[in-house]
Amino acid sequence: MNIIDIIIKKKNKLELSESEIKYVVENFVNGNIKDYQMSSLLMAIVINGMNDDEIFYLTKYMVESGKQLDLSSLGNVVDKHSTGGVGDKTTLIIAPIVAACGVKVAKMSGRALGYTGGTIDKLESIPGIKLNLDEEEFISQIKKINVAITSQTENIALADKKIYALRDVTGTVESIPLIASSIMSKKIAMGAKNLVIDIKVGNGALIKNIDDARKLANIMINLGKTNGIKIICLLTNMDIPLGNCIGNSLEIKEAIDILMNKEDNNLKKLCVELASYMVMLGLNININAAREKVVNSIVDGSAYNKFRELISYQNGNLDSISIGEPKYQIKAKKSGYINNINAIDVGKLAMMLGAGRENKEDEIDYNAGVVLCKNIGDYVEKNEVIMNLYTNKDMDVSIDIDIVENKQKLKDLVFEVIGL
Ligand code: URA
Repeated sequence: MNIIDIIIKKKNKLELSESEIKYVVENFVNGNIKDYQMSSLLMAIVINGMNDDEIFYLTKYMVESGKQLDLSSLGNVVDKHSTGGVGDKTTLIIAPIVAACGVKVAKMSGRALGYTGGTIDKLESIPGIKLNLDEEEFISQIKKINVAITSQTENIALADKKIYALRDVTGTVESIPLIASSIMSKKIAMGAKNLVIDIKVGNGALIKNIDDARKLANIMINLGKTNGIKIICLLTNMDIPLGNCIGNSLEIKEAIDILMNKEDNNLKKLCVELASYMVMLGLNININAAREKVVNSIVDGSAYNKFRELISYQNGNLDSISIGEPKYQIKAKKSGYINNINAIDVGKLAMMLGAGRENKEDEIDYNAGVVLCKNIGDYVEKNEVIMNLYTNKDMDVSIDIDIVENKQKLKDLVFEVIGL
């Protein structure tokens, strides 16, 4: 078998066989297939797609490229995944809520690259926190306190790690077969049995339209079925940033405010929905009963107590997080209603301020970021502050904010739920 023939076959829109896909995954992981050859094949996949069989085998061999965890001793454990968005700190809020409702949560999270954040970077803004749990620590912590969050270990779905890093720098991230196999290989290897996936749709997301989101959802649900994983997908709006804070320490603070029931914004609403579907799967109850438990856990403080327990169990010290003063402000250029705050623009601004990485090697400034003082639909007077910007850098900052005379109808937060 030969990689050049395989690349040409996919370029000619032909189906790759199981043995060809196995050959590609194994030989890319062991270094026989070079990055430039794999990039070429990935681009052919982005352009010409893959059918269900090809996606199934790609996922299978990506799972087999690394270690597989056995979480069966934990019982009915649940997991969640988000396809990634600006200001997406849902894991920090949902994991303790679901654990406080009596459901076990096993969460492996990733880092930020570019304008979308990563849960692990956000958690690392908490001094002392330990995020590289080994398998034994991970399982024993979940047994004791119902929840653990760890970083993606080198050897889970090794092929995905290597392929994702290459996709990131070769313009080959936005492909339904590649996204589906990437997400599902990690979840299958992690031993997930119940999974809620937040598929972000909009200008600040990998998936730009609802039809593609539906296709991705159905492919992942089918991959789940063949691997014994029950999956529910929520298709949710990512035209605007999630919540008011974008940046690592700032997002931890916002997560705490929501868990303490001090905030009521689009982020809280989405967290309640995602957590409710997880509790429904974990406790085998209906969605209304699950939603009631979730809301009660915020109101009675048990979700916030679980968050503190989780952080201190992983050696983090929440009391030493501090956020300085904003260095710059973005003000309204005219009076009117805010019609749009573009998620990508805000994500890029936060990254430039130091909250994210342009390159993998870049250091993060944990205190850098953006706080939205006003959000979509709010009325502002000319010169009123819309955003506070936190950074150590000296820079010129600007961002376009669409302000209109008449208030427009806001888009739904959750467009669809698939997989019930
Ligand atoms: N999240 C993943 O884990 N993989 C992708 O390809 C896209 C989003």
